[in-house]
Amino acid sequence: MRKLIFVTGGVLSGLGKGVVAASVGLLFKLRGYRVSLQKIDPYLNLDAGTMNPYEHGEVFVTRDGRETDLDIGRYERFLSEELTADNYITAGQVYWNVISAERAGNYLGKTVQVIPHITDEIKRLILRPLEQQDAEIGVVEVGGTVGDIESLPFLEALRQLRDDLPRMDTYFIHLTLLPRLTSTDELKTKPTQHSVKELRAIGIQPDAIAARSDRPLPVEVREKIARFCDVPVENVIGDPDLDSIYAAPDILHTQSFDDLISARLGLPSRTTDLSAWDERVHRLRHPRRTVRIGVVGKYVELTDAYMSIREALVHAGVAADAKVDIKWIPAEAVTRDGPAVHLDDIDGLLVPGGFGDRGIEGKVEAVGYVRENHIPFFGICLGLQCATIEFARNRLGLAAANSSEFDPATPDPVIDILPDQKAVAAKGGTMRRGAYDTILAPGTRAYTCYGTDRISERHRHRYEFNPAYRGAFETAGMRVSGTSPDGRLVEIIELPDHPWYVGVQFHPEFRSRFLSPHPLFTCFVRACLRERK
Ligand code: GLN
Repeated sequence: MRKLIFVTGGVLSGLGKGVVAASVGLLFKLRGYRVSLQKIDPYLNLDAGTMNPYEHGEVFVTRDGRETDLDIGRYERFLSEELTADNYITAGQVYWNVISAERAGNYLGKTVQVIPHITDEIKRLILRPLEQQDAEIGVVEVGGTVGDIESLPFLEALRQLRDDLPRMDTYFIHLTLLPRLTSTDELKTKPTQHSVKELRAIGIQPDAIAARSDRPLPVEVREKIARFCDVPVENVIGDPDLDSIYAAPDILHTQSFDDLISARLGLPSRTTDLSAWDERVHRLRHPRRTVRIGVVGKYVELTDAYMSIREALVHAGVAADAKVDIKWIPAEAVTRDGPAVHLDDIDGLLVPGGFGDRGIEGKVEAVGYVRENHIPFFGICLGLQCATIEFARNRLGLAAANSSEFDPATPDPVIDILPDQKAVAAKGGTMRRGAYDTILAPGTRAYTCYGTDRISERHRHRYEFNPAYRGAFETAGMRVSGTSPDGRLVEIIELPDHPWYVGVQFHPEFRSRFLSPHPLFTCFVRACLRERK
């Protein structure tokens, strides 16, 4: 069995296609199917690794080290599964594959063209997760908006797939926006009509229209969309603004969307067991207490740049029966004003990953403040590195200690370039990336949180804790609680004489799921609750 559900978008970008795709994937998983979720990004970058967080939000990293769009993270959080490089396609990768094949002589004598060579490669990449991950249902989200020049080859490939495969094996969902005119308080359907017209011009008639609006869909609007866009009225699905993205599966399920898709795909009728999911949504909506956690970062005015961190805190909050109120603190403001004014009302501090020296001094001072004031601290990647710098300066007396990323001339590079990164000049896809094992030392906080002595976590970095300084740190009271299996690379540091102070070189946020929060985040949030003023 092999079924494909495509999610396209119209009218505007940023309507939440990823949430719709993830929700549909989840509903089918909960019906007992093996589901794969895949994102297509029509831009020419080979991966998301070199893009601007202001435009695209965070870079998500898969287990096998691919730097992807943040929607892949959303899929993992909904499905509770680890996806791979195969679940992410960019136009850059498609063209790269085709051009490499042309250079290798695979098309000798032929003119290499968008149709069929590019579209064939797109189809091959779309079908690959179904084959390699043994999935029965593939949900494929096409990034961008219908009508964009760059998404044309992808939509053409989808159109061909609908004809290549039995009609019962493909399903098209088109997500649009219904703007509301304030003067008449009306939801307008015209942009949806135009966008469906655009899709039909490419040769695709959607099976269902998901209509995003600021409130539930009135019957007459539903009927109008059905009439003008030629879909059955029950296939016009309301996608209203919600207090939480985790409520979306239930909204779709309540409109029998899973039944409708299932019937059209010729699948047997089954029930969708949303009980465990809904129970968590209920707990998310009715927390017993609140805890305030500060996140000091460079891009805090745009929290999508820290999406996995934000969601991991939400998941951990549900586990701890608490609402995590995140205080986003710009690192440069801490540099300017000093830490006290910004951190005096938080119950815990998280310093996330990052690159470049903007705001670094503020982050270092923030860690010093919470270390001295016994406020729980969680440092992730660059966060661990800032903690190391702070400790070196203030506890080891190395006043000019730094990372060689920020000060190549520092006399004390307590954070230094990884040996195998020294010769790397190219920027794209060259960091130490993906899952590596870490061995945990018994009796440490990390060991207690994980409840095991060997873990696997995802990485994305070029610099590391400089092993030459390890002895000095340990003598001054810092504990190395996790290392690479060969013992060389410091993966986790902690301070035993602090209420909760843990820094990790990897990114635990990439493995937190709505149904199974990450143990380190849960431990951290619990510590913040315990130490709460
Ligand atoms: N810039 C640091 C490094 O490359 C930290 C990376 C990160 O936080 N992901 O090592």
